Amino acid sequence: MGLLATLSFLLSHHIDHRVAKPFCFDSLTSGVAQSQTAICPNNLLDLGVSALTPLPRGDGEVHSLNPLLKNRFEALKAIAEKSRISIRLTSGFRTRAKQEALYLAEVKLKGSETLAAHWVLPPQLSQHTRGLAIDIASIEGSVGMAWVQEHSNEVGLCRIYANERWHFEAVIAPGAACPQLTPDPRSAR
Ligand SMILES: [Zn+2]
Repeated sequence: MGLLATLSFLLSHHIDHRVAKPFCFDSLTSGVAQSQTAICPNNLLDLGVSALTPLPRGDGEVHSLNPLLKNRFEALKAIAEKSRISIRLTSGFRTRAKQEALYLAEVKLKGSETLAAHWVLPPQLSQHTRGLAIDIASIEGSVGMAWVQEHSNEVGLCRIYANERWHFEAVIAPGAACPQLTPDPRSAR
């Protein structure tokens, strides 16, 4: 192989590895499959490539729920409906002001910042203010939430805390295994 051919081989090889192929959700079949190209076909929902990270913004602030996280929830909802489980979002993106208010109310209720952080994190630590966390509820109650915990990894969502069965984050690629639960928000951050 000549130098030019080697170089172009290396380049194309390199580029090939860098092409991120997203996982796509087909609402007709409720199936998740990794795309063969860098984007999902038009009719499929883009679930992203891997664990989701904050969207880069000029001011470093996020202003809405991560769109891929939103898609992952929509996909989970569709799969759940096939099993006659009905789920909904009870919380998603929160502004820093909203998170601060929740945190301060919890501090007041529990009597200390340490005790409060078992349940509510301050804005700088919460994944809700980064658009990377959702809280889920099910009409079927604990049966529904057990279903959610069992199936959420199929779309790249994981329960994070042992003491919050409703809180989910997109910390894995769809289909991967979820990490072990951490006891509570305070011990995790
Ligand atoms: Zn939460």
